[in-house]
Amino acid sequence: MTNWQALEKKYFMTTFKRMPLTLDQGQGARVWDEQGKEYLDFTAGWGVNSLGHCHPAVVGAVSLQVRTLIQASNQFYTIPQIKLAELLVGNSCLDRVFFCNSGVEATEGAVKLARRYGKLHLDGAFRIITTFNSFHGRTLSMIAATGQAAHQELYVPLPDGFVNVEYNNVSAIKEATSPDTCAVMLEPIQGEGGVNIPADDYLKEVRAWCDEKGILLILDEVQTGIGRIGTLFGHVSFGVEPDIMALGKGLGGGVPLGAFLAKEKAAVFAPGEHGSTFGGNPLACAAGYATLKYLIEEDIPGKVRETGAYLMSELTKLKSKYDFITELRGKGLLIALQFDRELSDSVVRACLDRGLLLNPVKPNAVRFVPPLNITKNDVDEAVGILEPVLAELVK
Ligand SMILES: *Cc1c(COP(=O)(O)O)cnc(C)c1O
Repeated sequence: MTNWQALEKKYFMTTFKRMPLTLDQGQGARVWDEQGKEYLDFTAGWGVNSLGHCHPAVVGAVSLQVRTLIQASNQFYTIPQIKLAELLVGNSCLDRVFFCNSGVEATEGAVKLARRYGKLHLDGAFRIITTFNSFHGRTLSMIAATGQAAHQELYVPLPDGFVNVEYNNVSAIKEATSPDTCAVMLEPIQGEGGVNIPADDYLKEVRAWCDEKGILLILDEVQTGIGRIGTLFGHVSFGVEPDIMALGKGLGGGVPLGAFLAKEKAAVFAPGEHGSTFGGNPLACAAGYATLKYLIEEDIPGKVRETGAYLMSELTKLKSKYDFITELRGKGLLIALQFDRELSDSVVRACLDRGLLLNPVKPNAVRFVPPLNITKNDVDEAVGILEPVLAELVK
C-alpha cells in the first residue's frame, strides 16, 4: 500500500501540523481513512462542509455544472453566479456582491473596498481598526489585520494602515479612531482566536460608533456566516447590519468559494478596480447556490440552534464533572471547550484513535465545528467518545 504520509513529508513544504490520518472518503458527518476505518467528523473541513461531506444537493449541482460549463472568466455573464448573487442579496441586508475563491480574498477585497470608500467619501481615510486574537487570513495585509503577534512577527514589514485593539472593548475602538480611519473590521465571534464571544451589545455599540463617525463596519463572517451560529449570518444573531460582509468557508458546501457583499452606498468599485480570474466561476457558484438554497429551504440555521443547544448542554455536563475544563464557549455549532492546561493535542489525538475528529483551536482549547445538519444521535456519539477520553485524563 502506498505510504501517502511519507510521500507528503518528502514533497511538501512543512507548513501544516497534520494528524496521522489520511482521509479517503466522506459522507454526511462521516469520513473514512484508506483502511476503511470510520470517523465522526466534528471538524467539517474547518467549518467548510456546511451540509456534511458530499451532500446530494451539492453533488447533484456540481455534477450537472461540471458537464455544462466549468469556467468562463468574468469577461462574460454566467448564470450560476447571478443566481447565487440574487439568493445572497435577497436573504441578507446587503445589496451587491463580489465573488472570489477563499476567505482571505473576501476580507482583502472588503478592505480594498473600504479604502476606495475612504478615498471617495472620507477625505482619503485609509486606516482599518481590527482586534487582537482576530483571524482574517494569511495574505500580508490580512496578517497585518490579524491581531496576533505570532503571525505578524514572521513577516515584517507588513503593509501599513491597520490598528489592532482589544476585542469586546468599544472604548478601545473609539480611542483608536482618527480622521485617517475608514472602517472597523470585526468577527461577530472570533473563530480561530478560540471561539471568543463578545458582550451582547458590543457589535451594536460599535455599529453606533461607526454611524456617528461616518466610517464603515466590515464584518468578517467567513466563519460565522452561512448558518454556523444559528442564523444565516452571524450579525443577525447580534441585531446589527454591517456595511460590508466577507464570506468564505461554508458558502460553497465544500467547494472553494468566497464573497464579499456591501450596502449600496459602500459598493463604490468602478470597472477595473478589482477583479478575479476564477472568482464567481460557474462550478463553485453552482455549489454555493445549491448549498445556500438547501440551507434556507430546510431552515438549517433553526436546526443549528437546536442541535447546538443540545451539544452545549451535553458539554455543560462534562464541564461540571471535570474541573480541568475551565470554560465552555459557543453559539450554534461553533463551540470551544477550554482546559486549565495545554491538553488539546492529547485530547484530540485520543478522540481520533476512538473515531472522533476534533480541532485543537488553541493549545488549551478544542473546537467543535461539525456539519450544520448533524443529528442529536451524532452529538450523543461524539460526547460518548469524548467523555471516556476526559475520564482517562483525571486518572
Ligand atoms: C478561515 C478564516 C479566514 C481565511 O479564510 P481562507 O479561506 O483560509 O483564506 C478569514 N477570516 C475568518 C474569520 C476565518 O475563519
